[in-house]
Amino acid sequence: MATIKKISAENLLGELDISSEHYSCLNSKAVNSDKDYILYWLQSSQRVSDNKALTLAGKLANSLKKPLVVGFLFMPDYPGSNFRHFNFMYEGIRESLEELQAAGAGIKVGVGKRNEFFKSISEKAGLILTDQAFLQEPRNWRKKLGEIADTAVIEIASNTVVPVTAASQKEEYAAYTIRKKINSLRDKFLEIWEFPELNHSGKKYTRIPDNFSSRDKFLASLNLPEVTPELKAEKKGGYNAAKEQLMSFSDRKLKRYDQRNDPDLNIQSGLSPYLHFGNISPREIALKVINSTSRQEVKEEFLEELIVRRELSYNFVYYNKNYNKFPDCLPEWAATTLKKHSQDERDYCYSPEEFEQAETHDKYWNAAQLELIYTGNMHNYMRMYWGKKILEWSTGPEPAFTTALYLNNRYALDGRDPNSYAGIAWCFGKHDRAWQERPIYGKVRYMNRRGLERKFKMQDYLERINKLTPEKNIAGD
Ligand SMILES: Cc1cc2nc3c(=O)[nH]c(=O)nc-3n(C[C@H](O)[C@H](O)[C@H](O)COP(=O)(O)OP(=O)(O)OC[C@H]3O[C@@H](n4cnc5c(N)ncnc54)[C@H](O)[C@@H]3O)c2cc1C
Repeated sequence: MATIKKISAENLLGELDISSEHYSCLNSKAVNSDKDYILYWLQSSQRVSDNKALTLAGKLANSLKKPLVVGFLFMPDYPGSNFRHFNFMYEGIRESLEELQAAGAGIKVGVGKRNEFFKSISEKAGLILTDQAFLQEPRNWRKKLGEIADTAVIEIASNTVVPVTAASQKEEYAAYTIRKKINSLRDKFLEIWEFPELNHSGKKYTRIPDNFSSRDKFLASLNLPEVTPELKAEKKGGYNAAKEQLMSFSDRKLKRYDQRNDPDLNIQSGLSPYLHFGNISPREIALKVINSTSRQEVKEEFLEELIVRRELSYNFVYYNKNYNKFPDCLPEWAATTLKKHSQDERDYCYSPEEFEQAETHDKYWNAAQLELIYTGNMHNYMRMYWGKKILEWSTGPEPAFTTALYLNNRYALDGRDPNSYAGIAWCFGKHDRAWQERPIYGKVRYMNRRGLERKFKMQDYLERINKLTPEKNIAGD
């Protein structure tokens, strides 16, 4: 009988000079170097470029003289997902798997049943790496993989610039409490992780469904929930599309990023769906911006959003298990004040269906909802207004929270993200301070349509949205 060589995952990573800030072990099992391959379970970092977990898996495969196998599972039951999300996601997965296959990795694509998939991919794996998860269900899946696998399972902090646990050990109150912590570590973690050349072929382990190469046939076979109406312009995910978006933002819009709040200018990067699916790393985006020729002030404004604000959201969902529950996700003062004002009389009150159909009295709100429906996105400033008004025009704060989360996650291509939960919760007082007390909102920050009209050319915004759906005549009187 062959002797089974068992090594600790920490020792292996130590040999590659990887400090514990980058990873955590999902079980206490040893690496089994007598097994057939090293496995990377690709889930939230859907890219090859600057993918820490994948890079480390490749390097460890080489040092253990094993092939690398990459597994991906399509999960039609992924919480809150629908055809819109999978249609965007497919391209990034196909592109990454083709690149990895060409590099010599074995590829295993599964559909459905998680535990069966985990069992089948882990049987022959001597070590398993995956990307770190933040939301509850993906964290549970990783825990399960750690239990099912007969070998070490490690998750790598790949989707933020500063690993969440390195930035802070607790839930942070607001941007001002986490900013210094993140910015003091920012440069240390701003490096690109290059995928290595693989020394051993994993080809013989490849298993891909026959219909995978045909996007339409494959997606149809998943029986995904449909969302109507369809997007006006189909958007495809993937690293190549993300890179193109980044280049065009950096060349054309970044220099005016200080005007990003203006909804009619549409000066934002449009990178959030790609970030959500992990099609591009925030480190790669940050370095592109830092090395651009734009003014330092606009660069820092962008990095504040991309790193501080985004990573505050990751801190929130990582440390607060109630991130999707009203009022438990809120600070005490916000929960108390909203409860006190929950029965206040409303001038307008809409059902979730009326909100969904964009049938309010407010043309700006309706335009924002139509933007979400027809583009899968909504301008950041309008997102704030949209969420605040759902709070104001619902029967109470709790149904308002449910409606906002439902609409955001159903229609937005970047929905179901840590930023989704933090963004919605912000409309109800999260990561904010108390303001002067008023009806319905209590001490939660208020926004009104006069503010929109005073600051921006709202008619231009209406006209932009009207082009998506002229039959609604959203830009008329
Ligand atoms: C009610 C509400 C719901 C939201 N839902 C989502 C969501 O589902 N998914 C999502 O990614 N973002 C969400 N946000 C945050 C923000 O609106 C979007 O990240 C941003 O508009 C995305 O567009 P962009 O990529 O062009 O942003 P840019 O301005 O180009 O910013 C670049 C990146 O920085 C990050 N960022 C920008 N603004 C914020 C912010 N306020 N908070 C945290 N990170 C930020 C994003 O990752 C973004 O892609 C929500 C905000 C609110 C108020």
